[in-house]
Amino acid sequence: MDKKCICEETQRYFLGRAFDRLNLKEAQRTLLLSSFRETRVTVPVTLHHNGEDTLHTFQGYRVQHNHARGPFKGGLRFHPDVNMGEIRALAQLMTWKTALVDIPFGGAKGGVAVDPQQLNDTELEALSRRFCQKMAPIIGVHDDIPAPDIGTNPQVMAWMMDEYSKSHGYQTAIVTGKPMELGGSAGRLEATGHGVAHLAHKAAQGMALAPEQSRVVIQGFGNVGSHAAIALANKGYKVIALSDVNGGVVNEAGISIDHALAHITENGTLTGLPGTAPISNADLLELPCEILVPAALEATITCDNADAIQAKLIVEAANMPITHRADGQLVQRGVVIVPDLLANVGGVLASYYEWVQNLQQFPWDRETVLGRLESRLSRTYDAVAILANERKIDLRCAAYELAIRRVEQAVRLRGF
Ligand code: GLU
Repeated sequence: MDKKCICEETQRYFLGRAFDRLNLKEAQRTLLLSSFRETRVTVPVTLHHNGEDTLHTFQGYRVQHNHARGPFKGGLRFHPDVNMGEIRALAQLMTWKTALVDIPFGGAKGGVAVDPQQLNDTELEALSRRFCQKMAPIIGVHDDIPAPDIGTNPQVMAWMMDEYSKSHGYQTAIVTGKPMELGGSAGRLEATGHGVAHLAHKAAQGMALAPEQSRVVIQGFGNVGSHAAIALANKGYKVIALSDVNGGVVNEAGISIDHALAHITENGTLTGLPGTAPISNADLLELPCEILVPAALEATITCDNADAIQAKLIVEAANMPITHRADGQLVQRGVVIVPDLLANVGGVLASYYEWVQNLQQFPWDRETVLGRLESRLSRTYDAVAILANERKIDLRCAAYELAIRRVEQAVRLRGF
């Protein structure tokens, strides 16, 4: 089954289960499942290959799922597998994330089906600007605020902010995750990984897993995985394995994150990191460890490998890394899972802080951003854990219940 079906199926399953528990009527379910608007655009860009200029037409998407609680909010992904089904499922997930952490936003997601590694900077800039032009009619500072996701970064946000500002006046708040020089927030770059580590630590404490005795395996060493690794190592956890798209590296005695970062800067990959043995991305997931952090793409843990996972705690740094069937198998075995809508919510929470700072034209320092981030994440985690405990349900069920209840109330009060 292709990834788009897995994402949509997984999202539908988790929602259906929560809808049942909340006793929602068919009409409410249909409304909560439906996208407000699904936009598909063509993004023509001239690429220079083998001394020749060729026009390529890429497909771009923006799904605006629900805005009952505030403007649409969510990232933009540049990845070859991007398609409407995947973006739709991820847009829905953003609605539940913003509701769970109780910030005044709805949910959206977008992207372009492209491999950004194949483009040079000039081509990437052209693609980002052209995509922004195509989206301009449906985004807005109080309508829909994009942000980075897989394959995009602060530079892409800067090009988009500039492109939008050409026709709307200087608009920093149109995107979040910008460079600091253009109204980006201190702490935004590391916020998602920092939040993942903070929540992993809270969950580990609840399971009486001491940092020094807890081996951590992290799949994916992009922005989220690397900052989660740094923050977990700073808390005293032993990171024994890491991976990127080229494969993984393992050392039972622990890996220095500083060395891993220096190696990546020098070589562009983790492969060959001195003092480590190579391991495939698939085998890495099955290593004996206490904490597993999937921080790569969706559906990396499926029925095929769920039973081989040895971690006691899984913290979903990526969006939808576990399919619903694999989730069932893991929960049945007593594995604790901090679900995506909670585990990686630090990203959009810091985006909210960035937006607030932009609207007020009043920047906060890093300590303020990360301090507010940590205290709100702790409160959110506690609310989810208390509900899970009271109802004897897992953290994912509890998180979905809390989030859906908030969105459903807003939808009802607004009279959608
Ligand atoms: N792309 C991130 C996510 O999936 C952040 C979205 C945002 O900041 O709007 O949560």
